[in-house]
Amino acid sequence: MKMIDAECVFCKIITGVIPCRKVYEDENCYAFMDIAPFERGHTLVVPKRHLAFLTDMPDELLIHLILTTRKIAAHILQELPCDGFNILQNNGECATQTVPHVHFHIIPRWNNQKPRWHSSEGCQSNDEITETHKRIAINGN
Ligand code: AMP
Ligand code: ZN
Repeated sequence: MKMIDAECVFCKIITGVIPCRKVYEDENCYAFMDIAPFERGHTLVVPKRHLAFLTDMPDELLIHLILTTRKIAAHILQELPCDGFNILQNNGECATQTVPHVHFHIIPRWNNQKPRWHSSEGCQSNDEITETHKRIAINGN
């Protein structure tokens, strides 16, 4: 059973080969800030095991991943804070999946602000991203 793919950018993040702004980690899941966020606090939640599609996931791991996604979303709602959020999950290039390692996007949203469905890279300074990271990281993981 293949657990990691040495060529996969998310496997490289999980194994520490490339850096990220980590939000959460447990035995089976890993979460980090998206490098090209649609909105402030845009976070990705991934299984540690390399699987490309949602439909490749064993039941138990999928249940754990969605419950973890809910936990992180609840934390972001309260601590960022935001008024709501989208969960986005793409499978296949035809569905705009660019990294073939299963992931849930958590995209924070605010009242009276039109949802943006593309990267807002460059809109936030490094200090602002650091401040957001401090707010949403779940410590002790
Ligand atoms: P998708 O289009 O659903 O496959 O989304 C992949 C996401 O991964 C995009 O939103 C990218 O901005 C994000 N991404 C790609 N490389 C990195 C990275 N090194 N660190 C954090 N996020 C990344
Ligand atoms: Zn991977």
